[in-house]
Amino acid sequence: MLPSTLQQASQKDYAATFAVHDPATGSQIGFAPDQTLADADEAVARAAAAFPAWSARLASERAAYLRRWRDALAAQADTLAELITQEQGKPLAEARGEVAYGLGFVEWFAQEAVRVNGSIIASHLPGSRLMATPAPLGVAVAITPWNFPLAMILRKAAAALAAGCTVVVKPSPETPLTALAIAEAAQEAEFPDGVYATLTGASPVLGERLVAHPLVRAVSFTGSTVVGRRILRDAAPTVKRVLLELGGHAPFIVFEDADMDAAVADCVGAKFVTSGQDCLAANRIFVHRSVHDAFVDKLVTATAALKVGPGTDPTVDLGPMIHAGQAQVCADQVEDAVAKGAVVRFQGYCPEGEAYFAPVILDGVREDMRIFHEETFGPVAPVIIFDDEDEVIRRANDSVYGLAAYIQTADLARALRVQQQLDYGMVAVNTDRMTGPPVPFGGRRQSGLGREGAQQGLLDFTDIKYLCLHQR
Ligand code: NAD
Repeated sequence: MLPSTLQQASQKDYAATFAVHDPATGSQIGFAPDQTLADADEAVARAAAAFPAWSARLASERAAYLRRWRDALAAQADTLAELITQEQGKPLAEARGEVAYGLGFVEWFAQEAVRVNGSIIASHLPGSRLMATPAPLGVAVAITPWNFPLAMILRKAAAALAAGCTVVVKPSPETPLTALAIAEAAQEAEFPDGVYATLTGASPVLGERLVAHPLVRAVSFTGSTVVGRRILRDAAPTVKRVLLELGGHAPFIVFEDADMDAAVADCVGAKFVTSGQDCLAANRIFVHRSVHDAFVDKLVTATAALKVGPGTDPTVDLGPMIHAGQAQVCADQVEDAVAKGAVVRFQGYCPEGEAYFAPVILDGVREDMRIFHEETFGPVAPVIIFDDEDEVIRRANDSVYGLAAYIQTADLARALRVQQQLDYGMVAVNTDRMTGPPVPFGGRRQSGLGREGAQQGLLDFTDIKYLCLHQR
């Protein structure tokens, strides 16, 4: 059963709509409003009008709105999970995990809203008191991708609202229905008019308009590095805050002293969640030569046990890709690597259907192959052999991306030493799980700017107002 939003978003309610598809079947599951540039301008104008009163409220009042929003979302958690599975394709258990993860950010930022403090500065000016206070930026725009259609919206919007910004959300055209269901919950929470708005559209022009809009003071974007670069450029004329969570190409480093069974289990977790369509996915699996054969054998066995199919089937581990194009990118990367000498150690089975792609384990991957440098957004596990620590650090850092990295070792001194030298925003040692509301999520180099989650996620939607108060 889909939320009423889905029925509301029918052709008769809007001047134009676009169709939304289930990637598992290719069938149409609903429509979303295809909103116009005039709609974008109106949403921004309302958000700008709402900003003075919203930002002037007590932080505890904003926290209360966030908690009502969280409660409204929690009340339909199962429905939201089903909706995510329908339009994104991930298995229902993963979708439920995404809902819990996303709601955690709303609760976290409700708590953080009341802990935004400034500072009194030791004065260098006789007779003057100096103060620095974080102040909300103004209208914030959240532009989000399709791989986490709920969590990416909540992680941004809850932080911005807690900070005192008003928010306009522009979700991916592949997954607008989850965004509309989130907006419906915001209505139930009775945010004041203009404080929270959602714009859906089939084309990137809506996003472009929001990025360029002079009344928008912050753009928080999650998506590809290619689009992130464009957004940075398009925001320049109006000099606004740009927060970017971009692509990743995570190295997963298995040292010779690692617990091999645990390393394989973590590798499977870090590689195949969301069918590998995850910015944290283990995309370059560096394995020490002395344990390579044992590791790959175990990885093949573990991967062979994974079932691919529709996310609605509770026995399925990997759903379809978001669309056939994404599956084709994976196929091209595998073909290129094999042509240059990589070996397919395992290829799984998947159902018929354009958007399905079966897991692949590629062995003998090297720097001259596309897959070493291009973000792999699918269930392809490229294995790379290394011989020593300095070499693997150098090769792991050989990427424009710097989001996440994984280390598997029993030697914690080595883990700390390697972590310090990896040019990545987040490093996980002996685990595949590292994110959550208290964590400052974000990347270095071309993986992004700014952080989401933690108190910094909120402070990124503020800047400092400085006061010099002179006593005559
Ligand atoms: P995408 O960059 O194609 O699109 C993301 C969003 O940007 C969509 O809403 C799209 O409509 C909008 N958009 C496209 N062109 C635009 C423009 N010129 N101006 C403004 N908005 C525009 O990304 P995607 O394919 O939806 O998502 C996959 C990418 O997201 C991957 O690269 C992945 O690594 C990245 N990602 C990163 C994180 C992270 O936190 N670092 C999390 C999830 C996904």
